Parts: sequence; structure tokens; C-alpha cells
Amino acid sequence: MNTEEIMRLDKEYIMQTYGRQPIAIKKGSGAVVWDEEGKSYIDCLAGIAVNNVGHAHPKVAEAICNQAKILIHTSNLYYTQEQVELAKLLVEVSPHDLAFFCNSGAEAVEGSIKLARKYTGKGEIIAMENSFHGRTLTALSATGQKKYQKGFGPLAQGFKHVPYGDINAVADNVSKNTAAVLVEPIQGEGGVIMPPSGYLKNLKKLCQENNILLIFDEVQTGFGRTGKMFASQTFKVTPDITALAKGIAGGFPMGSILATREIGSAFQPGDHAATFGGNPLACAAAKASIQVILEEDLLSKSRENGDYFKTKLNFLKDDHGIVEEVRGSGLMLGMELDVNCAEMVNEMRNLGILINCTADKVLRFVPPLLIEKNQIDIVTCNLDDVLQNY
Ligand SMILES: *Cc1c(COP(=O)(O)O)cnc(C)c1O
Repeated sequence: MNTEEIMRLDKEYIMQTYGRQPIAIKKGSGAVVWDEEGKSYIDCLAGIAVNNVGHAHPKVAEAICNQAKILIHTSNLYYTQEQVELAKLLVEVSPHDLAFFCNSGAEAVEGSIKLARKYTGKGEIIAMENSFHGRTLTALSATGQKKYQKGFGPLAQGFKHVPYGDINAVADNVSKNTAAVLVEPIQGEGGVIMPPSGYLKNLKKLCQENNILLIFDEVQTGFGRTGKMFASQTFKVTPDITALAKGIAGGFPMGSILATREIGSAFQPGDHAATFGGNPLACAAAKASIQVILEEDLLSKSRENGDYFKTKLNFLKDDHGIVEEVRGSGLMLGMELDVNCAEMVNEMRNLGILINCTADKVLRFVPPLLIEKNQIDIVTCNLDDVLQNY
């Protein structure tokens, strides 16, 4: 099928929930993808911060193939070796003790909220304005952006939203019914917004003083994205519960909730479940993907390439007045402009580079962690040309 035919069939058979770009991706390798017409692109979006180990990594592909030949699914009514091995690995690389497996970021956030409510016996969650936690109704209710909620009410109860970065606003909203504070360590969809210095540490302190749980939504920041395995390690603040998904399994759909032993033990048999959660195929993909991150030292690569990329973007800031700020950590980078950046995404795509525009004015760069410096050069060189025209 050519691209036109695929686009026609999409319109005819698929609910039109996505504002798709007019290319159809056929295959990928490392930090490069090819479309149906054979044109190649350097992928600085990585399936929205998912393909951290790059496209079609041979070790992940092999793990998926091998597992698919043995056992794809068996339900959580039985044990599997794959699931316990993955849980052990996640506990080893994280500040947590226990894991629960689900299938997406929204599900991981919702499960984290259920766990916090079950453990504390309280209902209220303090979440952040400009946050993003997913599209299912409770994750949407936790999300602090009206544009995603419009038309879908009534929303779930129990959420208070406060400005991100304002510790006093959190303190002012704590009540005897507060179960947890839910926060993205770096706001992703909201425009790659960094936490003000000391903010996350102060949040932790505030939570401890008031017997409130701290939940990190690391769905986007996890698995090497910010330069360490988790942003909690980058910022040296340990949450009580962590929600994970996106980069967990090299592109295979999966989510996870991690918690301390004490909190995780609040979930008793029958309290929470997911039919597909942690099935052997997903666990094999995740295990292979995390092992690749460790074996290929992608955490160092994320920091080195991230610093290199950021420096290059800052050069562009010096040369182009429309660039307001460059920010981020590791390979989670944003370039805020003083104009809408949607059209630049199209221009970059025509030049063979996939990026994305979030929060209207922020170009977001979340490439595979193994992107090469010469690929970063190509990206920033082309971006220089594109910015020239504004
Ligand atoms: C993408 C994202 C989600 C939602 O994940 P889905 O897998 O799309 O449900 C939740 N939180 C954050 C921070 C995200 O970036």
C-alpha cells in the first residue's frame, strides 16, 4: 500500500482521534525510521519517549520472538518465570521493593492512585496544573489541563490542582483527607517543564511531615530518559510510588507500578488486576530492553548525548531571537519558542527529521538514547535552517 491508500483507509475505518502527520512508517533501526515511500528520518520523537533502546533492537526482537514461540499469555491466575524475573530486575534498578504490572501509562497512574487510597484510607490527591497523566477517566481527572477534559465530564472526584513548582500551594491544599501528591518529576506533555531547584526535595519533606504519599508519574521520564534509570535518581528524591510505562519494554505495550514493600503490601489478593498485565511476552520484551539499557550503558549515553544536544540547541538560541529557552535533562529536551511550532514540525519532517511540538510553543526532543552525535548534528543543522525563516 502506498501512503495515500493507507491515509484513505485510516479515514474510512478508524475513529479520527489523532492529528496524524501525512507519512506512514514502515520500519526502523536504531534512531532512524523509513516511511512507505522509502524516505528515511532521524527519529527525535522515538514513539513519544518509548523507543529508548532504538527501533528493532536485535536483542529485544530476539527476546520477543523466542518468547512468542513458547508462551504468549497465560493470565495472572498462574505464576510465570518471566514475570518474577522482570519484577526482580525492576526492583534492582529502582528505589522500590514491589511491582505490579499493567498495560499503559494511564493504567499505571490509576493503579498508583488506587494503591495510595487503599494504603492511606484517604481519598484526596493533590495533582499539578499543566500536568498529563493519560486519557482514561480517572487519569484524565488527575491531568491538570482543561483542553483534554472538555466534553468528557463528569470527571472523577478527589483531585485538587495546584501550580507546578509552588511548594506553598501544595502545603495550603493539604487536608486531613489528603492521600497523596501526584507529580511528573519533569512535566512532559506540558512542555518539558523542569522542577524548580529543591522543589521535589521539598515535596518529599512536606509529604513526610504530613503522612502523605508521594507518587512520581515517571511514565515519560523513566528508563534512562533523563540521564539516570529514573528521574527520582536524577533528582535524588525517592517517591513512595512510581508509575511507569512508555520506555519500559522497548515499544511493547506495558505499564508498571512500583512501591515500597509496606505500601505495596496494601494491595491484597483481589484488590487490583489486569488480564494482560505482566504477560510473559511483555515481560520478555521489558527484561531484554532494560538489560540493553544496562549492557550498552545507555544511561551514560543519555547524559552525554543529552548534554551535547542541549549545547547545540543553546547555540541555536544564541543565533535565533525566537528561541526563548532550552531546557531538560538527559535526552528529554525542550526548546521553547515565542511562536507556535506546529509548522516547524512539518518543515523538519520534509527535511528527514521527526520531532514534535508540545504545549503549542515547545519543540520536544526525546530520541532513542543511542542516537549518535553526528545524527544530532544533522538535526540541529537542519533546525538552524528552519529557524532562519521565522
Ligand atoms: C504518556 C503519559 C501518560 C499516559 O500513558 P499512556 O500509555 O498513553 O496511557 C501518563 N503520564 C505521563 C507523564 C505520560 O507522559
